[in-house]
Amino acid sequence: METKRLPRVYSAARPTGRQHIGNYLGAIQNYVKLQESFQSIYAIADVHALTTVETTQGLKENCLEMALDWFAAGIEPEKSIVFLQSNVPQVMELHTYLSMVVAIGKLTDLPTFKEKVRMHPQNVNYGLLGYPVLMSADILLFKADFVPVGIDQAPHLEFAREIVRSFNFRYQTKVLIEPQMKATATPKIIGTDGVNKMSKSLDNDIELAADEKTTEKRVRSMVTDTNRVMRTDPGNPDICNVYAFHKTFSPAELCAEIDRECRVAGIGCVDCKKKLAANLNAALAPLRERRAELAKNPARVWEILHDGAQRASLIADDTIRDVRDAIGLAQA
Ligand code: ADP
Repeated sequence: METKRLPRVYSAARPTGRQHIGNYLGAIQNYVKLQESFQSIYAIADVHALTTVETTQGLKENCLEMALDWFAAGIEPEKSIVFLQSNVPQVMELHTYLSMVVAIGKLTDLPTFKEKVRMHPQNVNYGLLGYPVLMSADILLFKADFVPVGIDQAPHLEFAREIVRSFNFRYQTKVLIEPQMKATATPKIIGTDGVNKMSKSLDNDIELAADEKTTEKRVRSMVTDTNRVMRTDPGNPDICNVYAFHKTFSPAELCAEIDRECRVAGIGCVDCKKKLAANLNAALAPLRERRAELAKNPARVWEILHDGAQRASLIADDTIRDVRDAIGLAQA
């Protein structure tokens, strides 16, 4: 029996390499905050990545780059368990057991599956169909009480909760815990195109740890209020993505000034972007310094991930033992 423990949160993200500002504001900052009041478990979902990647070339580097950004942003290995999903293979075992209580129709009906089929028609593999089952296995393996998810992932979490009910009913057990959704006040960060969610694959992202010059260049390319064609045209900050960024990265007085001046063409987009780039660079400077320091010693980062996997394994072993027992498998 487990002794009373801190409530647990679990979250994972596929290894997309160097993180962008959308990842930072939408997920990482929240991870950092949660580790203060929860036992936090964060995985780099390299197994999930296999469902869609065309090649595994660069996969290891992407894991490392992502971990560097996570740690530089303030996820602390002393407070959180951070590991690579493939390094805790117990999840694959739980996935198999869970797959027996999931109807195929449920999987094919999920909007996320339909979307992936549309995006990767040449590669509709079995793993892709089972993606939410593996995700459920991740969450349930660690008996997570809460899963911080954006609203787009809500159906997956509901799916995990249904699996728990099916599994516990089928084997007349209480071994799996229904995770609660911890709805995050996640802002949807719009990319430099001013239209779409910031995303690496759309090439509309601004990397967290880019150098100052690259950041300036990316900010210069940001689409502003498209109705403002000439410098002399008044603009509307309410529909301008550059202004949205100012609200996050610039002091209130500057935001108020831009809000006022933009509407009367007192400030042009070029100047407005220069100010944003300067503030963005200043805000991210400490993170970038920490990252550069960590990047000098990749072996240390692998060590932290290894240690994370060891700690995660202890929890995973407990669950697997209880699950086998509940199913009625002999443990000779
Ligand atoms: P995954 O496929 O694992 O969700 P992503 O790289 O798409 O990987 O996202 C990782 C995390 O960053 C997720 O929690 C996601 O919601 C968040 N995220 C990614 N892009 C944005 C964005 N533009 N705005 C807000 N949050 C984002």
